Amino acid sequence: MNPATPPLARASEPPILLCFSHLRWNFVYQRPQHLMSRFARTHTVLYVEEPMFDSPHGPRLEARDEPGGVRVLVPHLFPGQQGEQAEDTQRVLLDGYLADLDAGGRGMVLWYYTPMSLAISDHLHAGYIVYDCMDELSAFRGAPPQMVAREQKLLALADVVFTGGYSLYQAKRGLHENVYAFPSSVDISHFARARETLPDPEDQAGIPHPRLGFHGVLDERLDIDLLGQLADLRPDWHLVLIGPVVKVDPACLPRRSNIHYLGGKDYKDLPAYLAGWDVALMPFARNESTRFISPTKTPEYLAGGRAVVSTPIADVVRSYGDCGMVRIADTAEAFAHAIDAELSGGADRAALCRRADAILAGMSWDGIWLRMAEVMSKGRLAMEGLSILPGALRPGMSRRAAANDDYDYLVVGAGFAGSVLAERLAAGMNKRVLLIDRRPHIGGNAYDHRDEAGILVHEYGPHIFHTNSARVMDYLSRFTEWRPYEHRVLAHVDGKLVPMPINLTTLRMLFDRDFTPGQAGEFLAARAEAIDPVRTSEDVVLSTVGRELYEKFFRGYTRKQWGLDPSQLDKSVAARVPARSSLDDRYFTDEFQCMPLHGYTRMFEKMLDHPNITVLTGKSYDEIRHVASFGHTIYCGPIDEFFGHCYGNLPYRSLQFRHVTLDRARFQPVAVVNYPSEDVPYTRITEYKHLTGQVHEKTSVTYEFPSAEGDPYYPVPRPENMRLFRRYQELADKISGVTFVGRLATYRYYNMDQVVAQALAVYERIAAAERTNAGPPDLDRLAAPEALKP
Ligand code: FAD
Ligand code: UDP
Repeated sequence: MNPATPPLARASEPPILLCFSHLRWNFVYQRPQHLMSRFARTHTVLYVEEPMFDSPHGPRLEARDEPGGVRVLVPHLFPGQQGEQAEDTQRVLLDGYLADLDAGGRGMVLWYYTPMSLAISDHLHAGYIVYDCMDELSAFRGAPPQMVAREQKLLALADVVFTGGYSLYQAKRGLHENVYAFPSSVDISHFARARETLPDPEDQAGIPHPRLGFHGVLDERLDIDLLGQLADLRPDWHLVLIGPVVKVDPACLPRRSNIHYLGGKDYKDLPAYLAGWDVALMPFARNESTRFISPTKTPEYLAGGRAVVSTPIADVVRSYGDCGMVRIADTAEAFAHAIDAELSGGADRAALCRRADAILAGMSWDGIWLRMAEVMSKGRLAMEGLSILPGALRPGMSRRAAANDDYDYLVVGAGFAGSVLAERLAAGMNKRVLLIDRRPHIGGNAYDHRDEAGILVHEYGPHIFHTNSARVMDYLSRFTEWRPYEHRVLAHVDGKLVPMPINLTTLRMLFDRDFTPGQAGEFLAARAEAIDPVRTSEDVVLSTVGRELYEKFFRGYTRKQWGLDPSQLDKSVAARVPARSSLDDRYFTDEFQCMPLHGYTRMFEKMLDHPNITVLTGKSYDEIRHVASFGHTIYCGPIDEFFGHCYGNLPYRSLQFRHVTLDRARFQPVAVVNYPSEDVPYTRITEYKHLTGQVHEKTSVTYEFPSAEGDPYYPVPRPENMRLFRRYQELADKISGVTFVGRLATYRYYNMDQVVAQALAVYERIAAAERTNAGPPDLDRLAAPEALKP
């Protein structure tokens, strides 16, 4: 053992995870590195490599800490040491190291990538044994003859078997009673950078296009004949191969002026290479060594927005070929043909990215890690009194213990409220945050994505950003660039499309008279009804524009939108759309009006791209809270649901959206046309290309049908609802450890900027409480931020 390396453990710490691997930690960054770095967030992880025979002065165990928190152990043995003697030496080295750590006292989880390591570890007392089978190693070139027997032994000892793909799952599931398929995942935001224009790395910059790229280990799995033939078939194409050459003689690799071997690259640099390729390749040989592979590079290429051509590898065909996401070709000619199709217009990049996003949705290494930990927790591990789950997800953990352990905060809801707080807590206070959402995506109601046609649409209706708060603007600008956009709305009234809010042009068009601003003001004042006090939405409109315009523009729309007459709604609702006697036809008059240049979802991705934040979508608070106890919770869902609707349901109005793509470039003159008449069932139609500036031969629109049933979208501002809400608020005041933030949790009809301002204000209170050493703040009171002017 290296005496300079201090012991890692304290007796009270959770079990040690001892991982045995045939892959050197610094070789290429793949499954073991992704998973072990995540386990290392909460546990001591020792990653034991195979020995190096380079220590003439005697055996020693090198221990070094990698940036992700994993400690790598490398046995250095005498040159030429072999067989059982070498295994005995490793065993002794490892035993000595574990004894220093008091690993026996803490309990151990053994995790195998190679069954060969059983020879140095089968004597260890393990609380739990995992075989994470990522390849059929016995089929690899140079596999030791004992591999098959050792795998049988490992299968007999293991508590669980995970497989890195479906073919492997099929091969192993008859051999063990507890087998789970966990196909390798992808770091989507890392590789998605390749969709943007990145500077071409120096050694790739001089290579002409079209470029066909491959990144991965260059070994016997590669079809080198196919590569050579492809290069010969198309001398004007350039093949770029990135990765270390292993087990095959470099002299056997095809050498041509249009094949470029750039060597192994850092994981962090791969997106820059990927960004410069026209098509990505998976030219795998079809032999024993590739029968069960499930190449991680497939989702990586797709996340990077590249078209992919692959040989017919079973798992690739099953997951990506059959659905047409990856082109499958089995000869050099077929490759050339498929690549031709991609290069000559088949490759509509936007459409490809959209389909790739749909296929990759929900894939994440975080998700695999947590699901694996959950599977393990149900078995013998728990009986041994051990846990591999992050403390926050552990059943029975006391709140105090959990708070001292993995996640400092659970944030429920990945919309603006939850995401801003997750970002601030992680980046501003170095807190560890678990952010969950029951929807399969982040962004809350502002979530946007490309639809079937590749048009950027808003899943939950049009979201137009506007604010008077420079602070909110500055904050969000850290995560997005902006596209200037001023929103204009037309209303379909008396068979005409007239500007809304009512303004000078509206009056001119409706009444066919050439008003001056002064005359328009007088015209409205003459029709306005004297109402005092102004309480309801009906009052507010009647008292400013009179009954005729009220009926044309407000009554029907509001009845449809809210299922209530304007006389039953608080004045604040209709006051959002005040009439003007000027020519200003903008819907909003805020100082800042713009749209995130690459969409809301991309902005949220950047906001949440922080090592302290784990995002788990498709999980509801109910699912997590039964297995969890957290130091502090930020709750952004409906407040009545949090309290089990104990005082009855708080009304939230819902909408049904009908999204349609039309085979024409333009549908309507502005982004939104309102239909106030009760003769049509929808309230408005939105055409997104006006909002986003996207150029496309088709166009996508959304009809909004208000409804009582469905997701909660709008708190309904009326006095009795506010009274009911206040009863829930009183409950919220009484419980500790939960802060309620956002439109649903604080039951306020807030715009996006107001929710951001509210979340920033809550964050400041948390930070201030910590600065004054008040301990974890119990901010149960609803936030009352100042910067909330609409
Ligand atoms: P949300 O965006 O609703 O996010 C809450 C999240 O919490 C949701 O994703 C939900 O799935 C999740 N969640 C809830 N309960 C649970 C649970 N128990 N477990 C796990 N997850 C849970 N604002 C503007 O500024 N401009 C606009 O043009 C605009 N247009 C709008 C159009 C429509 C049709 C709607 C409905 C709203 C519009 N808004 C607009 C308002 C805007 O959507 C909100 O202000 C903002 O999205 C609120 O953010 P939030 O985080 O509070 O809530
Ligand atoms: N409204 C209306 N007619 C319109 C537009 C709005 O009656 O043409 C009323 C309606 O009650 C609506 C409210 O004004 O719910 C607020 O409109 P806004 O556009 O602000 O609503 P959003 O959908 O953005 O929340």
